[in-house]
Amino acid sequence: KFIVIEGPDGVGKTTQSKLLCQFLQSKGIKYIYTREPGGTPIGDYIRELLLNPENKIVPIAECLLYASARAQLIEEVIKPALSKGYWVISDRYLHSSIVYQGIGLNLGHNLVEEINIIATGGLMPDYTFLIDLDTDIALSRIGRTKDRIESRGLDYFQKVREGYHKLLNEYNMILIDGNKDIEEIHREIISKLKF
Ligand code: C5P
Ligand code: MG
Repeated sequence: KFIVIEGPDGVGKTTQSKLLCQFLQSKGIKYIYTREPGGTPIGDYIRELLLNPENKIVPIAECLLYASARAQLIEEVIKPALSKGYWVISDRYLHSSIVYQGIGLNLGHNLVEEINIIATGGLMPDYTFLIDLDTDIALSRIGRTKDRIESRGLDYFQKVREGYHKLLNEYNMILIDGNKDIEEIHREIISKLKF
């Protein structure tokens, strides 16, 4: 099974991914955890490029860099794991690109979608959870040292949040209320999975 946890920065994706991994572990289910961008040596290199606030990257290059990191992760990590019967838990996937670059940076939903269909070879998750939270609260949870993307400010993140909502139906995402407490969200996520 391929499970993706999505949502804007600061909503608790990493916390929930980790809890889900612990749960699978306790069930004796083999899994791997991956995060985007990154998760491979090339991907981590691209991550550094993308998140360094000193770098000036034009929107289409930003989009292609995320897609490159994703392509590398799929071939090197995700596909081999799935074919061995492992569950894959991914902190972000192509939805992030459609929302952050397609909608947030105005490259266009369709363009970014097409690029990512090429990059992923059409590999789609079995479950995608969208954790939703007020932008103010989410941003207040991000530390004071912000990466290149996190420094974009309230308007950008408002667009990102709305962007995710636009994707809900098309991508069959399961909406999760990020205001609930950590354990409750965890139980809700697990309750949606078929084992
Ligand atoms: O989830 P995490 O904070 O590790 O993601 C790294 C950064 O990459 C975030 O600031 C996120 O906003 C950004 N990002 C992006 N476009 C994507 C994926 C992630 O701007 N397609
Ligand atoms: Mg972040």
